[in-house]
Amino acid sequence: MTDSRVAIVTGAARGIGAATALRLAQDGYAVAVVDLDESACADVVTRIEEAGGRALAVGIDVSKSDQVEAGVKRIADELGAPVALVNNAGIIRDNLLFKMSEDDWDAVMGVHLRGAFLMAKACQAYMTQEKFGRIVNLSSSSAQGNRGQANYSAAKAGLQGFTKTLAIELGKFGVTANAVAPGFIQTEMTKSTADRLGVEFDKFIEYSASQIPVQRVGQPEDIAATISFLCSEEAGFVSGQVIYVAGGPLD
Ligand code: NAP
Repeated sequence: MTDSRVAIVTGAARGIGAATALRLAQDGYAVAVVDLDESACADVVTRIEEAGGRALAVGIDVSKSDQVEAGVKRIADELGAPVALVNNAGIIRDNLLFKMSEDDWDAVMGVHLRGAFLMAKACQAYMTQEKFGRIVNLSSSSAQGNRGQANYSAAKAGLQGFTKTLAIELGKFGVTANAVAPGFIQTEMTKSTADRLGVEFDKFIEYSASQIPVQRVGQPEDIAATISFLCSEEAGFVSGQVIYVAGGPLD
């Protein structure tokens, strides 16, 4: 791969997004490290630059079309045309259905579904022009249903249909689209779930690991490695797939 290819990773200040940004930089991509707060991206950018890579911190709320348009244009101007996009930004607003507010519903749809739509729409213009593109959307094992996550599971299932449609529409331009659906990954997101349930994070991890066939929870690097493959040149015949990365089988 030439080092001129540019990748955008959203929600990349921490967790799975940070690990993915670091991994794609190792793979030779120049990486736009996107998160709500631009200054929160500084650490990941520094780590990429110290390892000899190119990176740019960009503050974008992916649910806001004006910020997406301006941010993606800035990335194209300062780093180069984005040809890989990892829609990773995410939030949870868990509650049982009878207690879930409209705001809980709209906020989750706004970041996951609207955010992925806006980012993909802005980036496809560059990808189709370059006749090369790699789109990876973060789904979840929760797409199959999870108590307390009516909003999140609907968004993550929606992203699977979105991904397959992008694969169908964009394939003829050399653009692939795939979804990675993680199981339990040790990040701030799963820590906040433990907090909500009133369980110590260590105990939550221990219990979750005991339920997973490989007997451990996932780390952000497990997801980054799968995304790395999907963003590679050699993954060009893999498109429209949902890959569960969960330490065991899921449909
Ligand atoms: P995380 O640690 O909570 O990180 C998510 C990042 O996204 C945060 O830096 C957050 O910024 C950012 N973000 C939130 N809203 C945003 C917006 N509107 N625009 C831009 N950035 C925004 O989460 P994670 O565990 O790494 O999860 C990453 C992705 O994987 C998410 O899509 C999640 O749903 C999915 N996933 C995670 C797991 C898991 O077990 N962890 C499992 C399945 C799927 P702030 O800190 O400023 O809010």
